[in-house]
Amino acid sequence: MSCPFLREGRARYCHAAPLRKLILDGPGSDGGGRCETDGYHQCALVQAGETAAVCPHLEAMHVQYCGASGTPKLVPYSEAGLSRCGGPGFRYCELYLSMSRPHAHMTDPGQLYHATNHLWLDADQGGLCQIGIDSMLAHVAGKVDRVLFVTPKGNARPTVVLTVGEAEWTMVFPNTMRISDVNGHLRQDPSKLSEDPYGAGWLFEGWEVPDRTRTGLLRGAEADQWLAGEQQRLAEFVHAQVGPDNPCDGGTPAPGVARLLPREEAVRLYHEFFAPELARERD
Ligand code: SF4
Repeated sequence: MSCPFLREGRARYCHAAPLRKLILDGPGSDGGGRCETDGYHQCALVQAGETAAVCPHLEAMHVQYCGASGTPKLVPYSEAGLSRCGGPGFRYCELYLSMSRPHAHMTDPGQLYHATNHLWLDADQGGLCQIGIDSMLAHVAGKVDRVLFVTPKGNARPTVVLTVGEAEWTMVFPNTMRISDVNGHLRQDPSKLSEDPYGAGWLFEGWEVPDRTRTGLLRGAEADQWLAGEQQRLAEFVHAQVGPDNPCDGGTPAPGVARLLPREEAVRLYHEFFAPELARERD
């Protein structure tokens, strides 16, 4: 499925120019401009004595572009598979979400792969992936104050440091991915991370490494069962740490419970649920 704002058209360019500038055909366009008239003889890139009716350097190609953007970037059709606009990854585009809500196609958490430290992976058939935090982590943090991307590019285990109140939570995805981009908007406004963890709050984008990126992750009924167990374990953990004064709403810890707990307990909570590898190393 492609983004509903994705458009296709024809663009022209000069193959003799040092930089390829694509110009979209269509209403408001002057088509090939002087390249399609006698005027092309005045162009410094054309050899004297050229007799063709239009400039021989003028080329046309099939392109895709974003119909929602005021200044759309044209992408040659042959390279369109490399953009998120042509696949399910469009659901993470800030522009798409801002234009489509409340009717946006939302990510179904049931379709995601889950790591046991509460990070999720969405992977489409073409290999494009996104990574984010799950709703339980978002609920426990309540609000994230700062996001620092430790691995902004390249083959790595995607790693980010989230500042939650006075604590810094290092979140490490357990498997390698070829990271191509991070959600830079979160540096200025981290609120989306906890408000929309399966949409505009995504963290990393990149390409799946076959037989590695999805290894050991949970999905479907297995993931549902695990998450239900985690929520139960969280309620018990908070109750055990704080006793009868625990910040719970019925059986569910209150939003932002990590901020309400004393510092030591909050650190323990992070290690117990969101950094299981660190907890194992410590034990
Ligand atoms: S930039 Fe965003 S809104 Fe535009 S086509 Fe791509 S995914 Fe859709």
